Amino acid sequence: MIRGTVAIVGRPNVGKSTIFNRLIGQRKSIVDDTPGVTRDRIYGEVEWLTQTFRLIDTGGIQIEDQAFAQEINMQVDIAIEEADVIIFLTSAKEGVMTDDTVIARKLQKCKKPVILACNKVDNPEMQMNVYEFYALGLGDPVVLSGAHGIGLGDLLDIVLEKLPEKNLSPYEGITSFCVIGRPNVGKSSLVNSILKEDRVIVSNVEGTTRDAIDTPFHVDDKEYMIIDTAGIRKKGKIYENIEKYSILRALSAIDRSNVVLFLIDGEKGIRDQDKHVAGLAHDAGKGVIIVYNKWDTVEKDEKTMAKIEKEIRAQFLYLNYAPIAFTSALTGSKVNQLIPLIDQVHDACTLRIPTNILNDVILDAQMMNPAKPHLGKQLKIYYASQVAVEPPTIVLFVNDPELLHFSYARYIENKLREAFGFTGTPIKILARKRS
Ligand code: GDP
Ligand code: GDP
Repeated sequence: MIRGTVAIVGRPNVGKSTIFNRLIGQRKSIVDDTPGVTRDRIYGEVEWLTQTFRLIDTGGIQIEDQAFAQEINMQVDIAIEEADVIIFLTSAKEGVMTDDTVIARKLQKCKKPVILACNKVDNPEMQMNVYEFYALGLGDPVVLSGAHGIGLGDLLDIVLEKLPEKNLSPYEGITSFCVIGRPNVGKSSLVNSILKEDRVIVSNVEGTTRDAIDTPFHVDDKEYMIIDTAGIRKKGKIYENIEKYSILRALSAIDRSNVVLFLIDGEKGIRDQDKHVAGLAHDAGKGVIIVYNKWDTVEKDEKTMAKIEKEIRAQFLYLNYAPIAFTSALTGSKVNQLIPLIDQVHDACTLRIPTNILNDVILDAQMMNPAKPHLGKQLKIYYASQVAVEPPTIVLFVNDPELLHFSYARYIENKLREAFGFTGTPIKILARKRS
């Protein structure tokens, strides 16, 4: 579970991306495995002492043709809005610069925890240069050398200390979902259309503040929460047209959701940018529904739907588990199918298979089609156990985990889907050596 978001801010050249790369370091290669998923380099996940948080390098969020000062200003704004903890990076090599003072003033006024860090302290002599940073009024600077990897552990300890104890899916017992997609696919129209269908909007949930961005509503006796609705509904939101900012927004909405509705614009068809969005949905391990919106604009005959479905499957191979809905947010057509589909997907995400039944299916699958030997050795699955939900996670206890080939894991996954459905949820399959 991700404990929150941490942003690095600071003027150019203080070493933000160096520190960022050091911190996310070894995880990158793991996350890059899924073919066809393009990733943005401004965010990553950091694991420290069994905890995980998301890290953003705001230096990578840029506005085209904008003055320098305005760009830093925007980066700090975004950090203040999106992050739970802000690392303000400075450099002992250059000392306190005017831009540092400007940033410090902005950060002093914000209510988020700020950690002042002083980079490029490569040797003990440089330590002398750190003292002037007390003048920024942000407390003790954490001393770092990104180049030499000094001080990173201390920094991470302080980050974990300052991260609020908040639960990222705060709505126990309620199905929460978000609507993501590139600009103009119809996200706000769809949210409005879902809320319009004589549903009771609960306006005063305990603990929500005036600017709460999640919208609760009932269907019959069941409660739902649409995540990040304000961000969707409020037009002219700040920096809306900056793609990387939209990605961050979507990420924090996805974190708090059980199910993600990934929208495609049926009028324009599938575009490259849709792949980024789909990748975000898939990586999060949440339930996913692909919604082909603006269906009213598509000229169709009896073959159209099958044809489009085939195209979607070909373009988003890794989302092969996600059901596809065809809607029109404008006319409301088929929008009422979404809530039952969300229920179905959320049920699949939280499904727990009893161990004996799970083992029957997996041992059967193994008998029907044993794994091909690898370097003369044969994979043997002794038994299996489901260790987690959201997403369902299955551990296979085997003779040698190295022998579980990707394609065989895929085969097992397909057998599990045949047996149990798992509509809309990814499934994680892990191998452990039987002890
Ligand atoms: P950013 O613009 O803030 O993202 O800064 P970069 O990470 O690109 O670093 C700017 C320059 O500072 C690069 O040439 C880095 O190699 C250098 N740099 C980063 N960290 C350190 C450090 O700890 N010590 C020294 N001496 N140089 C560093
Ligand atoms: P967002 O940027 O993703 O929130 O998209 P909006 O909800 O603001 O919609 C963008 C434009 O597409 C608006 O002009 C909507 O009226 C239009 N639109 C949204 N959904 C549909 C739909 O299902 N059919 C048609 N024809 N237009 C739609």
